[in-house]
Amino acid sequence: MSLPKDIRTTLDVEDIPKKWYNLAADLPKPLEPPINPKTGKPAGPEELGSLFCREILEQEMSLERYIDIPEEVRDNLVYLNRPSPLQRAYRLEKYLKTPAKIYFKREDLSPLGSHKGNTALAQAYYNAEAGIHTLTTETGAGQWGTALAAVSNLFDIKTTVFMVRGSYDQKPTRKSLIELYGGTIYPSPSAHTEFGKKYLKEHPGTVGSLGVAITEACEVASKDPGTCYSLGSVLNHVMLHQTVIGLEAMEQMKKAEIEPDMMIACAGGGSNFGGFCFPMMGEKIKGRTECEFVAAESKAAPSMTEGDFRYDLGDTGGYTPLLMMYTMGHDYVPSSVHAGGLRYHGMSPLVSAAVNQGIARAVAYDQLETFEAGAMFVKTEGIVPAPESTHAIKAAIDEAVRCRKTGEEKTIVFCLSGHGLLDLKGYSEYLDGSMRSSAN
Ligand SMILES: *Cc1c(COP(=O)(O)O)cnc(C)c1O
Repeated sequence: MSLPKDIRTTLDVEDIPKKWYNLAADLPKPLEPPINPKTGKPAGPEELGSLFCREILEQEMSLERYIDIPEEVRDNLVYLNRPSPLQRAYRLEKYLKTPAKIYFKREDLSPLGSHKGNTALAQAYYNAEAGIHTLTTETGAGQWGTALAAVSNLFDIKTTVFMVRGSYDQKPTRKSLIELYGGTIYPSPSAHTEFGKKYLKEHPGTVGSLGVAITEACEVASKDPGTCYSLGSVLNHVMLHQTVIGLEAMEQMKKAEIEPDMMIACAGGGSNFGGFCFPMMGEKIKGRTECEFVAAESKAAPSMTEGDFRYDLGDTGGYTPLLMMYTMGHDYVPSSVHAGGLRYHGMSPLVSAAVNQGIARAVAYDQLETFEAGAMFVKTEGIVPAPESTHAIKAAIDEAVRCRKTGEEKTIVFCLSGHGLLDLKGYSEYLDGSMRSSAN
């Protein structure tokens, strides 16, 4: 064979990690606690008890370095096609004429189309154990709502999804998919909640935002003890569940003798970036690697590159505690022409802390340049990346092109967070030239 030996590195089903990795245990400066906006004091688990079950809250606050993955969760991860391969983007390297090596972790191979199932499974499992009958949630592009509806079904839990209205109108097939998986879906803001009704009245014709959708989902959960809320990104327990990606990647890199100089992932709320990079970041904090970590965000919601590092609400209506994070402000509404995903106003407190403490850095791209990078990936590697994932691809290509100029033989490893086969509308706009800059 003329392909390099490390073209694809796989692991066996038994190699699915047995423990999640918690970066909070290793951060040089500890995380700032969440704050109750009413009292101004650190928010205890009791105050969030109406939204989340106990096990999830314990993980949210935990400082244990490793947390056991329940056997039922590991079993179900097999059905999400875990372990996912680590593949070399050999044709992309050739096309770019770069001396750099480029590898990517394939979260696009999940039957749900993205990495989101990794935490959806864990959250559905713990809520089922706690006797919860319904989970409410928000979704932006639609992947999270799809993932939660799909796996909740496995644990006999119902799902109610509030989908950002602009995105709901653009993507009618998402509704069908979520309903096929047994979920109920409303465009947000909706007339289904008090907050939604009020917001609709004050902002007629609004395209909605993730912050508004989160508020609606929290309102429904707070009113019924048998209903809990589930968040697809941002919070510490979500980052924790996603570390199966990075733990597998570390095993694969060890197996194929790949020593990364740079690890890259896109970042909306930070779960793909955190899940992919945190295990290796732990090694960096211990002085065992020089690897750089790059979070690629969208210029439509550039929290880390243009926002402030401060306490802010996770939602628009004030159900969540104040979190110390990079933020554009909780009432921020991204440009309505934006098709590239990654539109959350804030950023995971753990990812924010890593950037603030100089362990990772962020770059921001406009959708015009990321879709161009995505189209190059389609042509060379034959995979249609999710619009979100094209931000990571753009960062990897930029670094590989830089290496062509300097002659550096760097090893670049990025996470392909999902496929874009359900998000072709953005690509259509890119192809017919109607796509506009989405920077606000
Ligand atoms: C949701 C999503 C993202 C962004 O969310 P993070 O929490 O930042 O990972 C990125 N890529 C895909 C494919 C997604 O579905």
